[in-house]
Formats: sequence, C-alpha cells, structure tokens
Amino acid sequence: MTVKTLGILGGGQLGRMSALAAARLGISCIIYTPEDNSPAAQVAYKTILGDYLDKAKLKDFAALVDVISYEFENIPVETVQYLKTLKPVLPNDNLLDVAQDRIKEKSFLNSIGIPTARWAAVDSSADILKSFEKWESTHTILKTARFGYDGKGQARIHKDSDINATLQKFTGKKLILEDLVDFDCEISVIVARDKSGNIESYGPMRNEHANHILSKTTIPAGIPDILAAEAVTLTKKLAESLNLIGVLALEMFVTKDGRILANEIAPRTHNSGHWTIDACAVSQFENHVRAVCGLPLGKPARHSDAEMLNLIGDDINKVPNYLKQENACVHLYGKHDSRAGRKMGHVTLLKEKA
Ligand code: AMP
Repeated sequence: MTVKTLGILGGGQLGRMSALAAARLGISCIIYTPEDNSPAAQVAYKTILGDYLDKAKLKDFAALVDVISYEFENIPVETVQYLKTLKPVLPNDNLLDVAQDRIKEKSFLNSIGIPTARWAAVDSSADILKSFEKWESTHTILKTARFGYDGKGQARIHKDSDINATLQKFTGKKLILEDLVDFDCEISVIVARDKSGNIESYGPMRNEHANHILSKTTIPAGIPDILAAEAVTLTKKLAESLNLIGVLALEMFVTKDGRILANEIAPRTHNSGHWTIDACAVSQFENHVRAVCGLPLGKPARHSDAEMLNLIGDDINKVPNYLKQENACVHLYGKHDSRAGRKMGHVTLLKEKA
C-alpha cells in the first residue's frame, strides 16, 4: 500500500520535523494532540485536537490516515492498543511499553545482553541500604520508574544521607535505584529499521546537559573507534530484538574505565539527532517517515561534522547572531512563549568533516 497520509500522535517539535520530512516525500501528516497551535500543527496538513483517551476522536483520526506513528513516549499504551485495531501503528507498542517503565527497560536491556548501571526495584529505605551494601557504593540515583524526563523524578542519594526524607518526596511512586556511574561522557546512537529488517544508524553522538536538559550534541563523539562501534552494535541489537519499524535512540554512558552502559531508550526520533537534518543526505526524521510508511531507508551519508546547540528559554535571543553566522543552520519550533527550560529551537553548526 502506498502511504499518502501519516498520522502522528503528539504535536511537539519532533512531530514538526517529521511532518516537514514527510512533506518532502509527498506524504501529508495529520497530527493528533490535545495542545492548541502546537509546533507540529503549524506545518501539518491537518490537526485533530483531542485527549489521548477520547476513543471517538481517535476513531475519526484513524479514519483519515493510512498509518499512525507517535512522537513522544508518554502516549498511553491503551491509546496505541485501541488505534492498532483500526490502522497500523508503528513502531509496535512493545517498544513503547518497554520504554515507558525504567524497570521493564533495564530488565529488557539486560535480558538481551546490553549492560546498564547496577539497578534494583526499591520501595523502602531498607531496600536502598541493601543495594548500597551489595554494590559497595556510596552514591546512587533514585528515579521514578515512569514518566520521568529531563532529570525530573530523580534524586541522588548519598549512603549516609537521610534516605527516608528523600523517599518521602516520591510517596506512592514505583521506584528504581541505580548505582551512580562514574562516566567519562554521555553518548547516544539513533537507528532506523524498516519492515524488511534493514538498518541505518547515526552516531554515536556526544551529549552534554545543562540543568538536566540536553544542551549540546557533537558528532563525531570523539571516543575510541572500538567503543563507538560497540555503541552502534548494541543499539542495532536493541532494534532487532524489538522488531523495530521506525526509529529509536539509545542513550549510553562511556565509563572512565572504558565500558559502555546503556541508560535510556527513546522510542522515537531524538534531540541528539537534530543535526542529521543539515549534515546528512537523509535525516533521522526522513528515515523515520520512510520506515513507518513502508518506503526503503535512505543512507544517512553524513557530509559534515556538526555541533547541535539547543535553544532553551532565553537562548532564543541569540537567534539574530546565529542568523548572521555562515555555518549555522537555525531551526525554530514556532513556540510563542519562551519559558525557562523550554526547548524553543536548535542551531546546527556545520564543520568540515575531519
Ligand atoms: P535519565 O533521565 O535517566 O536520562 O537521567 C538524566 C541524566 O542524569 C543523565 O543524562 C545523566 O547525566 C544522569 N544520570 C542518570 N542516571 C545516572 C546514573 N546511573 N549514573 C550517573 N548519572 C546518571
């Protein structure tokens, strides 16, 4: 079947950049989101405003599209399960299910041989103390198993601190404790996989955060080739194990003693891959659209090195300068209100390939 109309659940910037890539391939996008005047809606063919649990509206949406994808991971799995009775939804909901729960995520990663930080599901200070002893560790991170992002829903714990006081901040939440990784840097790899099992990859990229939000991505990552190759192999293995059709990203740590540990799966296109729009023949967004619409993948064919800088909150004021800079590719998301911590756009600085 030739896909003419792609439905996207979610109206954020990832949906916006996917809709732009789809348009170039002659595919129209219909966005489903509860948010009025969303970044994706501004560039899409049509938008349906509705709650993710409103079955009547979801049914109307499904009737208008050939295939459905999603652009953020907190879409209720039941929404996807309902929609897939009406139209194909890609990637499969097994990916969403694994990525929405850090305990399932870490269990799955370990079950397919992808190493992570040491971790334990915990719900009391006794559990936490037991992990400190078992790992012979002094610092850990407590995270909510679900709905955490950009450092929200997590707290560092020192062995001798008041653990009960920390736990109280998370009352009623399912929790995971992780050993604190002494990392040299954070990296990510993005892979696209089509329905025939062909895979293309981007990265690894080096990622730097400010206030828990990605601020800068650099490609190449500047890590030893052997570790770079391992990061790509692990991410491809993940995509294959999940029978992915679409795009996913794996965030990883490179430890000071030269190991790769997986941290988090993003079941979608990823902020660390925005540079692919300007530095590759085929971007992560285009390959996502190609994969879910049943088209063959394109070769990423990176022609430049790049540095991607997120424009967060007041960084938007730097845009006039970037517009004058000859190697700067400016991308703005059409958000009118620049709150602190809000991703307003990004800039990709192209560099000659080393
Ligand atoms: P996450 O929400 O799991 O991606 O965590 C947000 C950030 O916290 C990561 O990008 C790391 O900088 C840091 N972090 C998370 N987990 C760990 C860990 N186990 N050890 C060290 N740093 C971590």
